[in-house]
Amino acid sequence: MATLVLADHDLGQLAPATARVVAAALQLGAPVDVLVAGDDVDKVAAAAAALEGVARVRVARSAALATPSAEAISALLLKLAPEYGAIVAGSAAVGRDVIPRLAAGLDLMPVTDIVAIHAANRFDRPIYAGNAIETVVSNQTQQVLTVRASAFRPVGQGGSAPVEQVDAGGIAAVTRLLAAHRTESDVPDLATAQIVVGGGVSVGSAEGFKLIERLAHRLGAAVGATRAAVDAGYAPNDWQVGQTGKIIAPDVYIAVGISGALQHLAGIQGAKKIVAINTDPEAPLVKIADVALIGDLFAVVPELIEELARL
Ligand code: FAD
Repeated sequence: MATLVLADHDLGQLAPATARVVAAALQLGAPVDVLVAGDDVDKVAAAAAALEGVARVRVARSAALATPSAEAISALLLKLAPEYGAIVAGSAAVGRDVIPRLAAGLDLMPVTDIVAIHAANRFDRPIYAGNAIETVVSNQTQQVLTVRASAFRPVGQGGSAPVEQVDAGGIAAVTRLLAAHRTESDVPDLATAQIVVGGGVSVGSAEGFKLIERLAHRLGAAVGATRAAVDAGYAPNDWQVGQTGKIIAPDVYIAVGISGALQHLAGIQGAKKIVAINTDPEAPLVKIADVALIGDLFAVVPELIEELARL
């Protein structure tokens, strides 16, 4: 049976993470349909249809789906579920909200936060704040899954899947979105960035974080922070990386003045290369880094920025 991927979208744009969720879904070995649920979603559906490997885009239009309501989306998925062997969403806000509700409706156990797929019923997922990976074999008749998008390489853009309408009649939202407070930023998204520069509390101030941002800007990188830096008010909450922040999997993570507490490491396990800049050669993050620069960040980072400007 085919697999259905729930597309993530916002402000009329398909979220880049959806290309990664499709890549994960294709590993289940069945044809992959993408469901676009919303109100004004023509552009989103066209972007989903262009993803390589997508068999069909199914569009459900309804005022009840205009904002991502778990009740409305899971009701829609419950209607479509008999056609699918697996239903997959990203482990982001909408997927985390919708999938447990859908699983309860189907009387199934969801498998969440998947970081690797070995077979259609065999998955790896982190446990104990990322300190261990468990392999789950799910012998249920149908799989209801969330995947960590950052753990999968996105599919390309060469597809041309047909777009079909789905009847969204009778779908009602029992909740109403009153307001969305958005962070406007022209830096790459932390969750999907290829390079991330993270700053710790030793950066010392919000002003000091400008140094981290300048380095990130030079590298086309996203900016992350430790919880200690966020709690101190040096960096905004949505930059927090770790157990209680964002999970990242960049090609390169540059950790500036970060000790490497377990809760921070939980968020960077997917990073392919780690560079640590720290005064303490014994810091846990220095010990796991591929490259360590032992020195004062206020000397090393400006030097790095200068060198990069010369390239
Ligand atoms: P510190 O641990 O104080 O480390 C500062 C580092 O900077 C040190 O290694 C020091 O050698 C180095 N340094 C100092 N001066 C310089 C300099 N001039 N140049 C270069 N290096 C310098 N933390 C997270 O990050 N994310 C989470 O999601 C998270 N969730 C948590 C959840 C719970 C339930 C709890 C209890 C804690 C959580 N924490 C989390 C907090 C975590 O335990 C650490 O306190 C935090 O990660 C430490 O941040 P830090 O590395 O900035 O600070």
